[in-house]
Amino acid sequence: MEFGQPERYGRSQEAFARACEVIPSGVNSTARARFSGWEPYPLFVREGRGSRLTDVDGNTYIDYLLGLGPMVFGHRPEAITRAVIDHIERVGTMFALPTEEEITLAGKIIAAVPSVEQVHLSNTGTEAVLYAVRLARAFTGRRLIVRFEGMYHGFSDGVYWSKHPSLAEAGPEDRPRAVPQGPGLPQGAGDDLLILQWNDEAALRAAFERDGERIAAVLTEPVMCNTGCILPEPGYLEAMRELTRAAGALLIFDEVITGFRVALGGAQSVLGIRPDLSVFAKGLGGGFPVAALGGRRDVLELVADGTVSMAGTYSGNGIAVAAATAALDLMAAPGAFDRLGTVSRRLQDGLQGLLDEAGLPARVVGIGPLFQVWFTREPIRNYRDAARHADMAAFRVWWEEMLGRGVLFHPGPLENLFVSFAHTEEDVDLTLSAAAEAIQALRVRT
Ligand code: PMP
Repeated sequence: MEFGQPERYGRSQEAFARACEVIPSGVNSTARARFSGWEPYPLFVREGRGSRLTDVDGNTYIDYLLGLGPMVFGHRPEAITRAVIDHIERVGTMFALPTEEEITLAGKIIAAVPSVEQVHLSNTGTEAVLYAVRLARAFTGRRLIVRFEGMYHGFSDGVYWSKHPSLAEAGPEDRPRAVPQGPGLPQGAGDDLLILQWNDEAALRAAFERDGERIAAVLTEPVMCNTGCILPEPGYLEAMRELTRAAGALLIFDEVITGFRVALGGAQSVLGIRPDLSVFAKGLGGGFPVAALGGRRDVLELVADGTVSMAGTYSGNGIAVAAATAALDLMAAPGAFDRLGTVSRRLQDGLQGLLDEAGLPARVVGIGPLFQVWFTREPIRNYRDAARHADMAAFRVWWEEMLGRGVLFHPGPLENLFVSFAHTEEDVDLTLSAAAEAIQALRVRT
């Protein structure tokens, strides 16, 4: 069942042709582009509701793409929609003056995440990471940022390097080069990055021995979500915490994907690590654009005293604040994440069981409602492992067979599947039935 048959997806195909006339690449984010896996064209959406998404051709899917993570409650969650509409009608959206609602939201974020003593709002993960890195450099008076190959921290000049570099360009595994995402990035920005493989404690120790006094921060996702899903090996994040502290560098957790998604307190609460700064976005807004940079009060003091400027016309706008406040209230309901965890575990275990039964060399790797299926026998600990060993062709067949059976997720093997609070046990049953058939087809096609 190859993707793209016009009789099933004709309207998406036609919309894409029109879009390409007026929008470069036909889409407004790289992750939706043909070259990111949406070959020969992306699905165009008619509407979403709860765990379901319907495309313009009228095909309905169980949605595990979930906007690439933000839709923690599924599509159009009533309480958040109501809160936003109510705020617009009752208060307004933008004043270039603070509102009391911002204080309430900051308090809820601080209560949810113990490492966060103060918090600054913006609108996208890109902005919040940019601010975190700038703040770390200002606080330490140092330039170097340790950044791991295969991670993504937004598209700003300072960090849009070495996301998924070709192995021909990436340099030796133990001393990777900083590879720009493309032309147009200032060369000097790469000189201020120290690129390492993730899950390699020895490499991290060596970097601190060599350059410890020049390192301003280690910037990492606590779970590597931008190269499929890779969990930290036991002791690795602990070593990162200890090395940064000993060297006077900051530890920045980019929890844009994991925050307000795997648990109310983010991956840091599950893994038991206290970073100096954290960045949240996606899950925080329940589908509305909002991001937060939070952490140590003494670091954020640089914002308080005006040393580091954090601007933003739309930062802390009423829509973002109303949505995030409503989202946090839903998430804080007793047992909410437990139920999500149970549904997600059944799905992950069920998929692994089917893959094992079929004798396919594939592993489901994840943390709560966030996972990916790796098609390989080899262990995947970091980007180089993924680039060398993950069977991308098998993943494509898996994706096509699932889509054809009404189960949607991103076609990229280095992306993730997400489960929402709206997904039911019945959704899991339907997904596992589809997977059983897809796996049979996969055995025939690969
Ligand atoms: N950091 C991480 C870990 C991300 O996954 C992303 C987006 N996928 C970003 C930062 C950038 O966030 P945004 O798209 O909101 O700018």
